[in-house]
Amino acid sequence: MTDHPASDALVFFGITGDLAYKKIFPALQALVQRERLNVPVIGVARSQLSDADLIERARASITEHDTLDPAAFQKLSSLLGHVWGDYSDAATFTRLRERLGNAKRPLFYLAVPPSLFPTVVQHLADSGCTAGARIVIEKPFGRDLQSARSLNTLLRTVFPEDSIFRIDHYLGKEAVQNLMYFRFANTFLEPLWNRHYVDSVQITMAESMGVAGRGAFYDETGVIRDVIQNHLLQIISYLAMEAPSSTWPEAIRDEQAKVLRTIRPLSPEHLVLGQFRSYRQEPGVAPDSRVPTFAALQLAIDSWRWEGVPFFIRAGKCLAESRTDVMVELKPAPPVVFQQAAPRGANYVRFRLSPDVAINIGAYTKVPGEGMAGQPVELSVASGTRQGVGTRLGPYERLLGDAMTGDATLFARQDVVEAAWAIVDPVIKDPAALLEYDCGGWGPADADQLVASFGGWAGR
Ligand code: NDP
Repeated sequence: MTDHPASDALVFFGITGDLAYKKIFPALQALVQRERLNVPVIGVARSQLSDADLIERARASITEHDTLDPAAFQKLSSLLGHVWGDYSDAATFTRLRERLGNAKRPLFYLAVPPSLFPTVVQHLADSGCTAGARIVIEKPFGRDLQSARSLNTLLRTVFPEDSIFRIDHYLGKEAVQNLMYFRFANTFLEPLWNRHYVDSVQITMAESMGVAGRGAFYDETGVIRDVIQNHLLQIISYLAMEAPSSTWPEAIRDEQAKVLRTIRPLSPEHLVLGQFRSYRQEPGVAPDSRVPTFAALQLAIDSWRWEGVPFFIRAGKCLAESRTDVMVELKPAPPVVFQQAAPRGANYVRFRLSPDVAINIGAYTKVPGEGMAGQPVELSVASGTRQGVGTRLGPYERLLGDAMTGDATLFARQDVVEAAWAIVDPVIKDPAALLEYDCGGWGPADADQLVASFGGWAGR
C-alpha cells in the first residue's frame, strides 16, 4: 500500500468503446456499491452522445454484463459526465481542463487505440491536465521491445513512474494473485520449488472460441502479443520469482523483473505457431494473414533455482475447450521400493485459473488389496467460484480502485514490461513456420512433440 492521496476525478478515454461497455461500467457500479467511488467520472470520446445516451449505455452495459443495482446505478449516473471531441484536437483537452474544475489529482484511463496513446498524452501535458495526475494505460504496451521503450520514454517525459499504471487485468484476478500468495504463505512448497524436484512447468491458456468479431484487432496482434508477452509471462514471473522482501509494490516488482531477465530470449526452434483453418475468412482478417492464433513454446530460465527445468506455454483460439491451467510437475519417485512406481506426471501442483478456480495436488496411493499397486488421487487444496462472483473483487474493479489510491502492486512496471518484450522479441521479428490446425482440437501436432519427452501436455 502507499500513502499517496486518492485521485479526485476519473477521466475515461474511450468511454464509448468495447472495453468500457464490457468491463468498465460494471466495475464502476461495483466500486460505488463498495463505497470506493465518490468522485466525478468524465468520459471522453468522439461520438456525440447526450447525457441521457451515455447513462443508457452504462445501464445497458451493466444489465448485459452484471446485475443492475438501482441505488448504486443512480449514484453512478450522478457522477457521470462527458467531454466529446477528437483526441487529435487540442480544443478537446481545453474543454476537459475546464470540466475538471478544481480536481487536483485526476486519474486518466486510456482505453483507446494504441496508436493514439502519444497524441493523448501530449495533449494532456500541453493543456495543463497532468500536474498531480495519474495515468492508466491499457495493453498493449508497444508492439515489440523498441516500441515499448519509445512509449515508456514518452510517458516518462510527462509522468513519474509511480504515477503510471500499466494495466494487465490478469494481475487483478484473485486466482493469479493466489499463485504468489500460495507459494509464499506456506512452508511446504519451498523445499520442492526448484530444479531438484520440479520436472517441468506447463501453462495452458486455451480458448474454444475464435476471434469473436474482433478479427481486425486480432489480425494486428496475434497470440504472442495478445496473451503471452503480458498475461502468461506475468504468471511465470509469480511462479518462478524469489521471495520478495515484503508486499511493498517495488519489492514484488523487483523480483518479477529479476526473474524475467533470466529467461533466455525465445528462439524459433523452441516455438510452434499455428493458425486455425477458417481464420482468414473472419471479418477484418487479411485473406493472406500470417498472424498466429496458436503458440506452443519452451522457455529456459538461467537461474540457480530453475536451471534445466523447462517452462512450457501453450495458448490458442478455436481449441477443444476453454481453460487456463498452471501445472507444476514434480519428478517421479525412484522405482526402487515398489515395482509399480508412480509414473511421470503423477505428482504435481496444479493451479486452475479458469473457468473454475482451484489448487490441486496430484499424488499416488495404494490400491486396496494384496498387491502393492498404486492409483492416482488428487487433493483439493482450494476451489472456488468464478472470478468476480460473490465477495470476490472483479479484476477491473480491483485495479481501478488500486490505481485511484496509487497502489501499483498489481500493475506492470516499465522494466518488467521491457524484460517480457525482450523474451519474445526475436520470434516476433523472425517467427517460426506457421502451421494450420483444425478448430476443436489442440493445435498443430508439432506442439505435442515439444513436450513429448516430458509426458505430453497435461489434460491434453
Ligand atoms: P474500441 O475501438 O472499441 O474503442 C475505442 C474508443 O476510443 C472509443 O470510445 C472511440 O470513440 C475512442 N476513439 C478512437 N479514436 C478516437 C479519436 N480520434 N478521438 C476521440 N475518440 C476516439 O476499443 P476497445 O475498447 O476495444 O479497446 C480500447 C483499448 O483497450 C485498446 O488499447 C485495447 O487494446 C485495450 N483492451 C481492450 C480489450 C477489450 O476487450 N476490448 C481488452 C484488453 C485491452 P468513438 O466510439 O466515439 O469513436
